[in-house]
Amino acid sequence: MKDYHSIKELFEEADLRHCSPGILACRKEAEEQNISYEEAWDRMKKLIPIFEHSIRRGLADKTRSLSGMIGGDANRLYRARMHFLSPVCRRACAYAIAAAEANAKMYRIVACPTAGSCGIVPAVIGVVGREIHASDDEYTRALFTAGAIGRVVAENASIAGAVGGCQAECGTAVGMAAAGVVDLLGGTTEQMGDALALGIKNLLGLVCDPVAGLVEVPCVKRNGMDAVIALTAAEMALAGIHSVIPPDEVIEAMGKIGRLLPASLRETSQAGLAVTPTGRRITEELNRKLRNS
Ligand code: SF4
Repeated sequence: MKDYHSIKELFEEADLRHCSPGILACRKEAEEQNISYEEAWDRMKKLIPIFEHSIRRGLADKTRSLSGMIGGDANRLYRARMHFLSPVCRRACAYAIAAAEANAKMYRIVACPTAGSCGIVPAVIGVVGREIHASDDEYTRALFTAGAIGRVVAENASIAGAVGGCQAECGTAVGMAAAGVVDLLGGTTEQMGDALALGIKNLLGLVCDPVAGLVEVPCVKRNGMDAVIALTAAEMALAGIHSVIPPDEVIEAMGKIGRLLPASLRETSQAGLAVTPTGRRITEELNRKLRNS
């Protein structure tokens, strides 16, 4: 099948063939892996229970992580009385934190696009999917669409915090989730493009500065906040709000911003939150514990 290297190419091809970008992404996957379309589809579908399991583990395990920095917050939010967040937003936020907590505690997760940003896509697509009673096949199609977005970002910018800062990890996940939700709800490719552009734009410049070099602070709670951003971007796009800057240009800008970021703000823990007085104290305490163990 025809190759695609940009969102424009992907969406034009999908429109030409009157199908979701997710269907094209599945065909591409089958072609590249030299397997049947059905097998590629089934492989993606089999990720759904892993997504759900990581969320359940994260929600159920209220213990702190080995570092003591995170743990129990997904459960706390899930059980709390909400003051103004809608039930869907609350669940998406709690589920995203749950998957990210599961990652920090070494449970099995699906990197999407990375382990640090693993909560956003499954939480957002999963919660909306359950809300509208989507079938597993519809869920799978939305995941393929999200994956296709991630692939274009990886090719034209980056999905690694060490290369492009957290905008590359959580920003990409927000774009993937927002476009996936629009697909789930039967939106147009134009709306998917708006959703992913609006979502990524909101996170441009976001730095990667994990405390003690662990994917915990600010990563875990950031997943929860970003799940709500993805939902907002999808709602805005479905309401007919356009991104003035087209998605491919947003992705290109993200790549350029990533290259402008100093190395100290690209996963090296040499600046930002990692070197705040509290960040330093935690790092020193953890290093001392390691030396004495
Ligand atoms: S702050 Fe860095 S390590 Fe944490 S999720 Fe973002 S990119 Fe990943």
